[in-house]
Amino acid sequence: MRLTNPDIPSEWHPAYRDFQRQRERLFAVFGAWLLLAIMVAYQFSHELREVRPPEPWSLEHLLRLPVYASIGLTLLSHYTAVPGWHPKVFLRMMSTSLMLMMLGLFLIYFQNKPEDVPQVSEGLMISFFGVTMMATRGLRDWLVQFLLPLVLFVLATMLLQVSPISLIPHLFGPTAMLAVGLITSETLRRLGNHQFLNEQRVKQMATTDKLTGLLNRHAFLPLIHHEMDRARRSSDKPFCVIMGDLDNFKRVNDTHGHEVGDLVLRETAVRVSASLRQQDVLCRWGGEELLILLPETGPTGGLEVARKIRAAMAGQPMQLDGARVRQTISLGLACFDGERSPEQLIARADKALYDAKAAGRNRVMTAPANETGATPDSGSSGLG
Ligand code: GH3
Ligand code: MG
Ligand code: MG
Repeated sequence: MRLTNPDIPSEWHPAYRDFQRQRERLFAVFGAWLLLAIMVAYQFSHELREVRPPEPWSLEHLLRLPVYASIGLTLLSHYTAVPGWHPKVFLRMMSTSLMLMMLGLFLIYFQNKPEDVPQVSEGLMISFFGVTMMATRGLRDWLVQFLLPLVLFVLATMLLQVSPISLIPHLFGPTAMLAVGLITSETLRRLGNHQFLNEQRVKQMATTDKLTGLLNRHAFLPLIHHEMDRARRSSDKPFCVIMGDLDNFKRVNDTHGHEVGDLVLRETAVRVSASLRQQDVLCRWGGEELLILLPETGPTGGLEVARKIRAAMAGQPMQLDGARVRQTISLGLACFDGERSPEQLIARADKALYDAKAAGRNRVMTAPANETGATPDSGSSGLG
C-alpha cells in the first residue's frame, strides 16, 4: 500500500470527525494511564539511582502538579462519561504539561546538578516521543503541543544566560527521538486514514445503488424504522412515504436500448432528488421503482412533494445520448397511520401506486387511512 496522505471526500467529513474523536479518546485514555505509570516509575527509578532533586524543591513539585492534574482530569472525565468531553483538549493538556515539566526539570538539573542531567535527558527523550504520538491530527497538532513549552524553554535559557552550545550534547538524543516519533505518528495517522477510507467505501458499496448513486433497499429500511419510532413517540412527528414507478419503461428499453434506459434511470434520480427537500430520503427500491421517505411531513406536504416529482418528470423530455425520451412517473403516497412494520406502510403506498397506474399513469394517488382504496390527489383527475 502506498502511504500517501489520502484526501477525505467532503461528504465523509462528519464520519471522519467521529473517527478522529474515537482515535483521540483511545489515545487520551491509554496515554493517561501510561503517563501515570511512567511518572511513578520514573520517580521510583530516580530514588533507586539516587538522583536526588536539587533545590528549589517547590519548583519541581510545581512542575509535576499540572501533569498529575491533567491525568486525573482525563481519567475522571472518561470514566464518569462527562457529556461532550473533548479528548483532544485532554491530550493537549497532558502533552503541554508534560513538556513544561520535562523542559523545566532539565533546566533545573542543568543549572544545579549537572551530574544527573543524563537521567533527565533520558526522560526528555521518552516524553518527546510520547508527546509526538499524542499529536493524532498531524503536524499542526504537534506544533501546538510543542510550541508553548519550547518558547518558554528558550526564554528561560535566555533569562538564565545558559549557552545554547552547552545544551546541544544533552539534547541530541531527545531531538533524534523527536524525528523517530514524527515519522511513526505520521505513518500511524496515514494508516488510520486509509483504514477509515476503506471502511467508508465498503459501507458505501453496501448501501448505495451503483447505477444511480441512490440508497438501496437494504440501507433504506432502517430509516423508516427510525421514523416510525419517532412518530409513535410523538404525534407531532408524522411522516409519509412515496412509491414511484416509471411509466411504460419497458418500451424505452425496447425502443432506445438498455443503455439509454440506464441513462433515463440516472436522469430520473437527478430530477427526483432536485424535487425533494433536504430532509427527504430517496431510494432505488427496485428496477425502475423509487421509494421516498418524507420525515416530519403530513398528507398535505407529502402530496405537494409527490406532485412536484410528477411535474419534474413530465415537464421536459430527457435528451440522452442523442435520444429524446419523454418519461413520466406514477406515484403512490402513504402517510404513517400506526402501522406496525415498514412493510405494511410500503404496501399501502404500493397499492396507491397500483391505483395510479390503473387510473391511466402519470399521476399521484394517496392511500386512504382505512383500507377502502386509494384516492386521487386532487379531484377526480389525479394529475398533480
Ligand atoms: P408500467 O407503466 O406498468 O410500470 O410499465 P413498465 O413498462 O414500466 O413495466 P414494469 O414496471 O414491469 O417494467 C420494468 C422494466 O424496467 C423492465 C426492466 O427491463 C426495466 N429495468 C429494470 N431495471 C433496469 C435497469 O437497471 N436498467 C434498464 N435499462 N432497465 C431496467
Ligand atoms: Mg414501470
Ligand atoms: Mg416496475
